[in-house]
Amino acid sequence: AEEPQIVSGRRAKAIKDKRKKLKPGSFETLGLSPVIIRGIKRKGYQLPTPIQRRTLPLALTGQDVVGMARTGSGKTAAFVIPMLERLREHSPRAGARALILAPTRELTLQLHKVVKELSRYTDLRTAVLVGGDSMEAQFAELAANPDILLATPGRLMHHLQEVEGMSLQTVQYCVFDEADQLFEMGFAEQLRAVLSKMGDARQTLLFSATLPAALAEFARAGLKNPAFVRLDADT
Ligand code: ADP
Ligand code: MG
Repeated sequence: AEEPQIVSGRRAKAIKDKRKKLKPGSFETLGLSPVIIRGIKRKGYQLPTPIQRRTLPLALTGQDVVGMARTGSGKTAAFVIPMLERLREHSPRAGARALILAPTRELTLQLHKVVKELSRYTDLRTAVLVGGDSMEAQFAELAANPDILLATPGRLMHHLQEVEGMSLQTVQYCVFDEADQLFEMGFAEQLRAVLSKMGDARQTLLFSATLPAALAEFARAGLKNPAFVRLDADT
């Protein structure tokens, strides 16, 4: 008699996807929630970009990821989509579950826009902590129990000093975006301080256009067994 053929995980999934008429490599094959898929489609994304295709499956399993690809390659959605999938909906429990750090006010505001767009069909709440805005307005955002914090390192540390009881221990998902810039701008010490304030039970992602030695060292210290995904300049 013929041995039954053993079809391994990845191939079995490919066969199932084909039956469901899902385009190979599409967002629909990643097992994302319908509300997240709706947000992606509404944003106008049809297919993942190369960096997204490589990092989304890893990040969605909960693994730490270092992603390196040129500017304009779509790194933002590569870390925002797994974050939204992990958080799913607003939690009434105190304390943010996700933290995104970026080097500048302008970049943080851009990231916020993308997070709002992709999370359009969820009830997730955000707070933006950047320099240049009043602390009071940001206190109010924090008081509304946000699920996601988007911050520059300096202003985040300022809040941690000013706001009694504010803690990063509830953070499960942490992103360092434009990490090479974070380092170039001299935030290394503050980044280490932020790391030390979070619990160990978290997923950490670091995205960057380049990976200088100091940054690679930081990644090894702050991330758990990260997968390194590096795309060449022309992809
Ligand atoms: P990076 O952070 O790598 O510089 P961004 O995340 O800012 O890149 O994305 C660059 C541009 O590509 C943005 O306009 C973004 O909306 C767009 N983009 C990202 N992902 C996709 C996608 N899957 N399909 C189409 N456009 C995308
Ligand atoms: Mg970027």
